[in-house]
Amino acid sequence: MENELLLLQGAMGIELDVYIESLTEVEELEFNGFLFWKGRLAGKSVVISKTEMGVLNATIATMTAIEQFRPDYVINQGTAGGHVEDIHTNDIVIAQKAEYLNSLIMPEKKEGEGSDSLLWFFDKKIPAMEADESLIQYFQKEEYKQGNLLTGTIGTGDIFSREADRIHWIHQEKDNLCEDMETYAVYQVCQRLQVPCVSIRVISNNELLGESFDRNSARVLQKHILKCIQDR
Ligand code: SAH
Repeated sequence: MENELLLLQGAMGIELDVYIESLTEVEELEFNGFLFWKGRLAGKSVVISKTEMGVLNATIATMTAIEQFRPDYVINQGTAGGHVEDIHTNDIVIAQKAEYLNSLIMPEKKEGEGSDSLLWFFDKKIPAMEADESLIQYFQKEEYKQGNLLTGTIGTGDIFSREADRIHWIHQEKDNLCEDMETYAVYQVCQRLQVPCVSIRVISNNELLGESFDRNSARVLQKHILKCIQDR
């Protein structure tokens, strides 16, 4: 990554504070209402971007950043909710594949026939998106001691799933390890604009296990990613 520009994204302030504290030669910028911090981090040229939460914000923020800064790589990172029982708070998922969780079709029901969200189905025409293989390998190489380091599928939607049956159903359909609100959007924009990208997510909550949102996990992830960037 020498002499190259890295775009480092997070949706919330708690997912970016470690980077911003460590950034030098800082230039703070705003484009299309989104905040960016340009500077040097761990010996590399970076632009830190606060995408804000959700698919639409992530889409606009990623397009804006690519057009303004022309980064060589995009690293999306932040928190995610576990969708399987053997994944815990502070485990990290390298999102090799992103599945879209917003495209639901419902079976027809007449007035008075009620609603059953477990009968809804995903639109099979919506493709999965893939991360850049060399970026996946780059992040697989660094040792991680605070939890497990996994590579797999993430589901993205403007939802925060908290119903166990729903979570099991999503996992059964999409084979995802966890859920967030931005990764799929970033992968789609990056594929269109041909910029290599990967999303690295830390488990901040697992509703199946009663592990509620732990904001410190976002700092654990940032410190790990900082080490990855520094080491290579
Ligand atoms: N403001 C909340 C946390 C926001 S959760 C709080 O402090 O309690 C939504 C954000 O975290 C999104 O940016 C999403 O990418 C990520 N996220 C973490 N866990 C999630 C989950 N279980 N489902 C969906 N998004 C999740």
